[in-house]
Amino acid sequence: MPRVEKGEARKKMPRLLCITAHPDDEAGGFGGSLLHYAEKGVETHVICLTPGQAATHRGGAKSDEELSAIRRQEFAAACKLLKVKQGTVLDYPDGKLDQQNLFAVVADLTRRVREIRPDVMMTMGPEGAITAHPDHSMVSVFGTLAVHWAGRANRFSDQLKDGLSPHQTKKIYYGTTGFTMPDRQPVSLAPASMVLNLAAAEIETKVAAFECHKSQAPLFPFFEETIRRRGKTEQFHLAATAMPRKMEIETDMFEGIGDL
Ligand SMILES: [Zn+2]
Repeated sequence: MPRVEKGEARKKMPRLLCITAHPDDEAGGFGGSLLHYAEKGVETHVICLTPGQAATHRGGAKSDEELSAIRRQEFAAACKLLKVKQGTVLDYPDGKLDQQNLFAVVADLTRRVREIRPDVMMTMGPEGAITAHPDHSMVSVFGTLAVHWAGRANRFSDQLKDGLSPHQTKKIYYGTTGFTMPDRQPVSLAPASMVLNLAAAEIETKVAAFECHKSQAPLFPFFEETIRRRGKTEQFHLAATAMPRKMEIETDMFEGIGDL
């Protein structure tokens, strides 16, 4: 993809939106890609639906509110390391995304997609990624519907005022891996169609970004192992494209998008 020179109008800067469930997903699942594209001049955004208040590991917090506040700060620190332009943690309840009102959550995300106007969106697959966490599955459903419907003037048309207009995101990717964890419940992952090669330094920053989530320190060995098992890559499945075509193996999420 072409490198964007500083000073170019904002409208010409390519944008990448990552939609996740919990603080730490952005680093563990997508950290390499977020950093890689930010360094190439892409404007990167992360929307995390919950502040992670139901986590097993509490980091010394005495209440859900205290843990939420800690995890919001950890998320901000990780986003800073990953050079994320805008990281947002919403306030949906951790562990209960499957009990939320689909229409309301998708409306909320659709409005945010119409504001951010990404070229590419990445999220988990509906299986819930390698851990198959139900919140990950719901983020996939909510995020996918929001990105599709943001482009259609007949969906949530009440939002189309005060300068907000429909926006068609050009590609949707689901994060995936080439392995599963045999000691866990079964999970069926989407096949990788886009393999992003990362520099060793990008992997190290990804690990460091995960380790910003200090409240989750007992998970560090597990996550570092899964990060390193991917080799120097992050893998994705192209789930939707605004430019219909046969499936091809890609090495760049912004391939085929054109005039960036
Ligand atoms: Zn998660």
